Amino acid sequence: MKSLNQYLKELHEGKHCYENVFKNVSRMILEDPKKVEKITVNGKTTYDFLIFREGTKPVVGMFDLINSFVSYVKDAAENGSSKEMAFVLVGEPGNGKTFFVDKVCELYRDFLSREKTQKFTFRFKNLDPLKTYGRLTTIESQSYEDPVILAMNLSPNQAENKKFLGSFGFSDKQIEEFYGNYRPLGACSNYILEDVKNFTGNDQKKILSDFIDVVPVPIGGVLGTLTGKYQAKDKITSSGADLVGEESVQRLLYLTDSNNPYRYDLRRGVLARVAGGGIHFSDELFKNKTDLVQIYLGVIQNREIELNAFKWPMDTLIVATSNIVEYQKFIENKEQAPIFDRCKIFYVPHNTDYRLQEKLTAIAIGSKTKTTVLGKSLHEDPNLNYALSTSVVLTRLPKDERLNPREMLQLSAGEVAGEKSIATLAEIIEELSKHMKIHERFGHSGIGQRGLGRAIQQFLSLNETQEEECMFAGNAFESTRREIYDNITDKKEQEWYLKVLEVGEGLYKERIKTEIFNAYMNDPEAIRKEVMNYVNMIVVSNDQDGPDKIVRIREGNQEKPLKIDETFINGVEQRLGLNTKETREQHRAQIRAIYARRVTQDPNYCFMDNEKLKKAVTEYRLNTDISGAGSLAGALANPTNEENKKLFDRLFSVMMNKLKYCKTCARKTLEFYCKPDSNK
Ligand SMILES: [Zn+2]
Repeated sequence: MKSLNQYLKELHEGKHCYENVFKNVSRMILEDPKKVEKITVNGKTTYDFLIFREGTKPVVGMFDLINSFVSYVKDAAENGSSKEMAFVLVGEPGNGKTFFVDKVCELYRDFLSREKTQKFTFRFKNLDPLKTYGRLTTIESQSYEDPVILAMNLSPNQAENKKFLGSFGFSDKQIEEFYGNYRPLGACSNYILEDVKNFTGNDQKKILSDFIDVVPVPIGGVLGTLTGKYQAKDKITSSGADLVGEESVQRLLYLTDSNNPYRYDLRRGVLARVAGGGIHFSDELFKNKTDLVQIYLGVIQNREIELNAFKWPMDTLIVATSNIVEYQKFIENKEQAPIFDRCKIFYVPHNTDYRLQEKLTAIAIGSKTKTTVLGKSLHEDPNLNYALSTSVVLTRLPKDERLNPREMLQLSAGEVAGEKSIATLAEIIEELSKHMKIHERFGHSGIGQRGLGRAIQQFLSLNETQEEECMFAGNAFESTRREIYDNITDKKEQEWYLKVLEVGEGLYKERIKTEIFNAYMNDPEAIRKEVMNYVNMIVVSNDQDGPDKIVRIREGNQEKPLKIDETFINGVEQRLGLNTKETREQHRAQIRAIYARRVTQDPNYCFMDNEKLKKAVTEYRLNTDISGAGSLAGALANPTNEENKKLFDRLFSVMMNKLKYCKTCARKTLEFYCKPDSNK
């Protein structure tokens, strides 16, 4: 608790700051230049703001959304038109809208809990001698007005107020800056100040020392102060009072003057609590009754709470969310046109990067150790996350002749998709962005995070999962299919999702092959090394090399010999479908070019995102190295033979000990591998 004089003195010393919410939020994000990075997403250069990637629950992906939010806040901070607008996130349920806004609020609370950025307000005290306030002796600014706002409004004469500020040592320029962010006092502060002036004969010194204290604004997620949320209710009971407050009968009993605006209890509503430089989050804005939406629209534009012609100015960042259906229902009603002028709408797509999806899927699976209904611990198949992530992302990608689902999946994750270019994907996204219907745009349909959650629940409820105490990845597809049957109502969409789910199963099968090969080689990195061997051979070899030439290559910091194995190179290239000298040379040139570009940037780059190459190398190795045992699949399927049984046991134990499988999923994965159709 301090006096206004003391606060202003400290403000001049730089212990506090006077900024509006947009400046605050903008500074919070951009303050540290090290936390802004330039990146490329889906072929477009953009920025990544690392503050959102920190903490225990970082935002995953959502690059466009974050960029759009930052530019909105920045424009508002620089007095652009955004400052009279709300930022509205529209998208399919379960794509992370609420999570993002919650994160912004959490970061903001952290930011304001620093000493220098802490928010202060003021309250009137010792009101009893005035005799018109009954038992109300202390009254806090209902809308948490900043002490500087009070200082700028002490006298009706602005020149006097500027002189007052100047007496603390603020320069004319600083005072101009304060006034650039001027707001009048709220109705009740203004009224009470006048009362106190009358009582003291307008003795400013006495008013400031005996009647006004400066106090910190409490920060609390649960209190709804500084950051607050309003969840739309369909209930009849919801009313404007939820937002702006209402007359308080109790206060009316105390106040002698029934015209005193303090008779309105503003803090009964959610907006006053965030009016002092806070963030208001309206969840499902358009689900509110029309009269509430009207109040919102008024508040957004005028930046003030209004009750019976009394006004309380606000300094609030308003962020809202809405699902697509509610939003489109709302705008189809022509009378609601003002919404466009007052809201900056951002359409939030689902995540379409399967690598990032792996992080989101991990959250959906749950990070804690899972247990069965009988309390035994439940194992997670190491391929489960991959199987689920690729499957759901595939359903989110559009159907297009230029790229097949698999190519789109890879390009969207920044990987290589044969000779298909990222520019093609960017072109498709651009074209789709012109569609009127939002859900036809890129990433706006498919199984969302909630659908994924349901699929996982279904998966956990399988008797097999419970009995065998393991979440076997091979069962993920059945559960995803169940989700598609149960929750995708559009026939055409359903058919398409089921089709791409088969692509997902194909990817899973390929992954199993590399896993089995790694197990066979007793090395979790076996395939990676083989792929790099191929690449290295291509990079160092040239036509003058004779057969069996040995070259030296670098691996990490070491040099090691590498024998150029023509049979291996030819075998891999045959499996890549390169049957002429020309196509082979073309492919090799491409590999060399990628090597030159990527490996110089990142010495750890290992070509493992080149799925086609990985697949060809795996298949070649599986069919040659293991040929001693006939075919591996054949051998494994026929464990009666002593040799075969040994092989099976060896793979089994490597999978258990080195590759994170349990008894159940190791056995099932091997069985899955041996199924005739999975070896095509
Ligand atoms: Zn397992």
